[in-house]
Amino acid sequence: MRGLFRDVKTELWRSYHWQIQNRIKTKEELKRYIRLTPEEEEGIDKTYSLYPMAITPYYLSLIDPEDPQDPIRLQAVPRAVEVDEKVQALGEPDPFKEEGSIPGLTHRYPDRVLFTLTTFCAVYCRHCMRKRIFQEGERARTKEEIDRFVEYLKSREEVREVLLSGGEPLSVSNEKLNYVLSKIREVSHVEVIRIGTRLPVLAPQRFFDDELLGILERHSPIWINTHFNHPREITEESAEAVERLLRHGVPVNNQTVLLKGVNDNPEVVLKLMRELLRIKVRPVYLFHCDPVKGAVHFRTSLEKGLEIMEYLRGKISGMGIPTYAVDLPGGKGKVPVSPNYIVKREGQTYLFRSPLDGFVEYTICDAEAP
Ligand SMILES: *Cc1c(COP(=O)(O)O)cnc(C)c1O
Ligand code: SF4
Repeated sequence: MRGLFRDVKTELWRSYHWQIQNRIKTKEELKRYIRLTPEEEEGIDKTYSLYPMAITPYYLSLIDPEDPQDPIRLQAVPRAVEVDEKVQALGEPDPFKEEGSIPGLTHRYPDRVLFTLTTFCAVYCRHCMRKRIFQEGERARTKEEIDRFVEYLKSREEVREVLLSGGEPLSVSNEKLNYVLSKIREVSHVEVIRIGTRLPVLAPQRFFDDELLGILERHSPIWINTHFNHPREITEESAEAVERLLRHGVPVNNQTVLLKGVNDNPEVVLKLMRELLRIKVRPVYLFHCDPVKGAVHFRTSLEKGLEIMEYLRGKISGMGIPTYAVDLPGGKGKVPVSPNYIVKREGQTYLFRSPLDGFVEYTICDAEAP
């Protein structure tokens, strides 16, 4: 499994801090592990200042070094196309107008507030919808910034959920995490805290830390939303991370992004969803890829997503079928998109397309109809 890193002592391999300290951040280091294509070499050089590279040894170990189209490699290794003029022109740095007056805070839906806790990530995913923050350097919010955010929360009684995001919110120290969670818990109208973290995928060793798990348990209810995109990201270590979270009362949900070359294939998505259920992660969203500057080369058509959704229905338990959603530009919200199963309607009589086979005519009256 560890392949290129088989000589690393297990104790180090299982340490999150070792994984972070030994991230691969330069072309020279990466070349020791995989033979780079010209497009990748050029990519690393050209994206260096705009969208830096960082890959944990763990995530790198999942890459097949012989395959230039490896789905994990495509998510982690820069390519020149990111800074191609056309690709740059097609996207926007902040298509959802997240940036507002309080640093890190986006309040789009009345009941939910999003707060980005840091710009640091374990791996800088090439498709990231917040790619713009890569340039800000690796910086966590200060206690003053956290306090300002909490003041805002206190003034908004309609807020029931806080969504901590990033960057990678769980990359902050246990002490800082405990600080922010304690402060949020002082606000009585906040019921649920959701943490959007990709560490179960990029450095699951973070969750081998009992102190962290204790903090999460203490501030319950906390939900985790993670971001698996490919069945090969599901490993013994990631399953262990999820298991530990569940044992501490933290449910784990997943949002996948539909990415060209990575998972724009019905079989791959079906396998991913099955694997997620097996490790007890509930797939919640399949997101259509956003028009983000430097990442539009990952976009597929909407039809591709609909084709995948059709394929899933009937082949996997309902628990394994996510909502396919598009985030509307300008911060107008996420909308579900679904294949249409109603083919025809006459009065109260509908013609449905069955996910198993053929068509079914079905007359549906409400209780008061004669
Ligand atoms: C996506 C998002 C949310 C959460 O939406 P859910 O549908 O609950 O996952 C909240 N706030 C902002 C700004 C978002 O972009
Ligand atoms: S971990 Fe999340 S925020 Fe960080 S680069 Fe990847 S997708 Fe973006």
